Amino acid sequence: MTRPFVFPGLTTRVVFGHGTLAQVPDEVARLGHSRALVLSTPHQEGEAQALARQLGSLAAGVFAGAAMHTPVEVTDQAIVAFRAANADCVVSLGGGSTTGLGKAIAVRTGADQVVIPTTYAGSEMTDILGETAGGEKTTRRDPAIRPEVVVYDVDLTLTLPVALTVTSALNAIAHAMEGFYAPDRHPVTEALSREAMVAFREALPAIAKDPQDQDARAKALYAAWGCSLTLGHVTMALHHKLAHVLGGSFGLPHAETHAVLLPHTTAYNEPAVGDLLKPTADTFGHGSAGKGLWHFAKSLNAPLRLSDLGLTAKDLDRAADIATRNPYANPRPVTRDGIQHLLQQAFDGHCPDQTTKGRTNHDHQTQAS
Ligand code: NAD
Repeated sequence: MTRPFVFPGLTTRVVFGHGTLAQVPDEVARLGHSRALVLSTPHQEGEAQALARQLGSLAAGVFAGAAMHTPVEVTDQAIVAFRAANADCVVSLGGGSTTGLGKAIAVRTGADQVVIPTTYAGSEMTDILGETAGGEKTTRRDPAIRPEVVVYDVDLTLTLPVALTVTSALNAIAHAMEGFYAPDRHPVTEALSREAMVAFREALPAIAKDPQDQDARAKALYAAWGCSLTLGHVTMALHHKLAHVLGGSFGLPHAETHAVLLPHTTAYNEPAVGDLLKPTADTFGHGSAGKGLWHFAKSLNAPLRLSDLGLTAKDLDRAADIATRNPYANPRPVTRDGIQHLLQQAFDGHCPDQTTKGRTNHDHQTQAS
């Protein structure tokens, strides 16, 4: 039987291809703007300056201070620059950190955003903003956060180092994986997530072999778009909660943490929603979605151990406490013991098991332990 669904409509204009950076001036003008502040990290300042030159009279300046987890101090500085330059929109060139800064400016000033993603993290299609203040990361959703235009230029991803390519793609696959069992999933996210997983499975080994492989890079960026769209449309659960805890409270690196957790969070929920995770199991093999993802990550030399990312054995208890302190929706009940076991396996880098019995229906459970 066809499952009932709500499709909220598509709100972000997407331009995808090779050399599409050349279209950014037209996209700024199309929005009715004439003074764009170009944003980047310090690492990508050269590319941002080149884009500002390309924008010519449409450029109001460059702010190259974007940083991981969108610290509010950086946003405050960027807004001073935005106002001083008399800017009327932002053009964010970079990964999730730069997109996050553009969103933080947009939600405070009402500025329109043109985003040019250069990683697969997937912030560009979402209405989600995570910000850090006083060492605490908080996340909110608001329609005002969602970018107006996204320009995907495959050529810009050719410089993405293989290690970051792999972890960033696993970060993207996590959006698709959780999208399969999201209570508000709909046929658009389901279809794109299925396609994205297959595209990443085909593209990543090819990119690892030849990072300049244009077809594989195009396939990976296309997959990233599908995963980002899923993240931007549906509710995430255990995987994103745990990644948020480890990044926000223990300072673990974003993409690598998603990469290590992914097989384990998938395996945790598999006893409850194995049928919904079947596309993942079918795509990555090894008889289960969690195991398939672990072997895929291993074959790409992705990090497999939280212990390699800076987490210590004594952090595990506190991480499990924080992750189970507040109830949230997840297909399988989130128990203190279950999360402790999951974190221990991810800490040691073992292939995940599914020894703990879970529920077999699709009701999302909350727990309050
Ligand atoms: P990032 O944006 O911090 O980029 C990592 C580094 O790689 C930076 O130095 C960047 O300049 C560099 N880089 C980016 N693209 C490159 C390229 N093509 N070639 C060479 N170097 C390149 O990392 P990220 O993983 O893309 O983003 C992580 C951040 O995004 C986190 O803060 C995370 O919370 C956020 N995020 C938010 C959402 C959302 O929907 N709100 C979704 C995903 C990620």
